[in-house]
Amino acid sequence: MIVGGGTAGWLTAGVIAAEHRGASPDGLRVTVIESPDVPTIGVGEGTWPTMRDTLRRIGVAEADFIRECDASFKQGSQFRRWVDGGADDHYFHPFVLPQGYTEVDLVAAWRARDSAPAFAELVSVQPHLCNRGKAPKQFATPEYAAVANYAYHLDAGRFGAFLQRHCTGRLGVQHIADHVVAIRSHDNGDIAAVQLKEHGAVAGDLFIDCTGMKSLLLGGHLGVPFVSQKHVLFCDTALAVQVPYSTADTPIVPHTVSTAQSSGWVWDIGLPTRRGIGHVYSSAHTSDDAAERELLRYIAGSVGPDDIPAPRKLSFQPGYRQTFWQRNCVAVGLSAGFIEPLEASAIAMVELSANWISDQLPADREDMDRVARRFNDAFSYRWSRVIDFLKLHYVLTRRTDSAFWRDNVQPESIPGRLSEQLARWRHRPPSRYDFERVEEVFPSASYQYVLYGMGFEPAANVTTRRSDSLQAAEGYFREAAQLTAKMLAALPDHRALINHIHRHGLPRI
Ligand SMILES: Cc1cc2nc3c(=O)[nH]c(=O)nc-3n(C[C@H](O)[C@H](O)[C@H](O)COP(=O)(O)OP(=O)(O)OC[C@H]3O[C@@H](n4cnc5c(N)ncnc54)[C@H](O)[C@@H]3O)c2cc1C
Repeated sequence: MIVGGGTAGWLTAGVIAAEHRGASPDGLRVTVIESPDVPTIGVGEGTWPTMRDTLRRIGVAEADFIRECDASFKQGSQFRRWVDGGADDHYFHPFVLPQGYTEVDLVAAWRARDSAPAFAELVSVQPHLCNRGKAPKQFATPEYAAVANYAYHLDAGRFGAFLQRHCTGRLGVQHIADHVVAIRSHDNGDIAAVQLKEHGAVAGDLFIDCTGMKSLLLGGHLGVPFVSQKHVLFCDTALAVQVPYSTADTPIVPHTVSTAQSSGWVWDIGLPTRRGIGHVYSSAHTSDDAAERELLRYIAGSVGPDDIPAPRKLSFQPGYRQTFWQRNCVAVGLSAGFIEPLEASAIAMVELSANWISDQLPADREDMDRVARRFNDAFSYRWSRVIDFLKLHYVLTRRTDSAFWRDNVQPESIPGRLSEQLARWRHRPPSRYDFERVEEVFPSASYQYVLYGMGFEPAANVTTRRSDSLQAAEGYFREAAQLTAKMLAALPDHRALINHIHRHGLPRI
């Protein structure tokens, strides 16, 4: 029984129903209850490459998804003005791993050069593809296959409706449009049923709480406390707008652009028909009016004054639940927690949770407690890593132009494990030795991209590496440059691929 029909509810329903034969009479019965009175959050436009596996796993045709969700391709993020706030201050966190990663110490060879380009530009093709507005695949590349690793940007409202049609039409998911007014318990404290306004009580074995920030079942009914992370990540408010393109053939930027502001940052996401832009900021460091002025200043260059819609304000508490699975109830999505969308990790955490629940589906009620313990351990760890990684973007800043940036580097705001890692990374780059779990949320390569993008200085510019190791790394740098030249010549422009898919689709696998 899935309560809530936002991105979290429908993705979770899709993953479970597809794997456990929801459409067969002898398969698992999956029901989504969605209130007609409570809208979904309506934001959440950036995803991770994991979304390709998720959509394939639930049987969606990639071209249908791209057409119906106004989706475009995302090849990573570019961070502007995070290091010192200057006009030419920018770096990439691409999805493609560095060429030769895990084979040799690329960082040592990069540092050993007298003059070197930015780390990401030297080791990866993808910043160059992004700078030139390229698509990550060709017209003939089969659906979900990539030439350069990619995720999507999408219209959140259309995505929810698309998933609903797919889950109910193809995967046998039952849909009840009704409002939960009460929750009934068994004597042992398990949830027995949800009481609906029109349909009466609806019973279930496992309840998945996808009710958004109010966390109706796990937080509200079962009373699982919320663990605030506001002392680490200060942003708690967003102003979101949708901005039209000046012409229908304006290039679509193939990456998320995140531009630092005085007390937060602005996201800029290019969809085929519009841009989604939002200012995320700390309400303790700036006022709504000042934040809106900064947002409008950001947009002003691209649209006429009459085309700027009024921003929509969203407030959130950064943090997560103390446990995520209690008794026969597990929270997925905003009901489990939310942290500023700096690396678009929220929907990825939904996918990870849905896969976990589906793969480890409890055999019976007794087994459920064992599964719950392991789920809680895995996701406490994952939430902590998300927080560490987002904080990494802040702790190395040299900006001192506002209290927001100065407060962000205060030692008491930095999680202990991250401080320790930063000390370690002064002597050796982030590697697999730092991240040992299966399915780490962010691989060590991501830490390298952000660390060296932010201008992190190792202890001394010396290396004891053998000269042939350094030469091997130089070989990978050359390989990356050759690959870049080949891909730039062979890959179409981003909008050209989107237009092609709208007209002709993609080869099916
Ligand atoms: C400013 C901002 C930007 C974001 N950007 C990104 C991003 O780029 N990438 C990313 O991955 N994530 C992003 N997110 C997070 C992302 O939007 C969410 O993780 C995602 O949309 C999932 O939301 P949800 O389904 O958990 O909740 P919601 O969309 O809030 O859905 C809640 C559901 O519960 C139902 N419900 C509530 N009460 C009841 C009731 N009493 N009875 C029955 N049903 C009920 C509602 O009807 C609704 O269907 C962003 C979030 C914010 C705030």
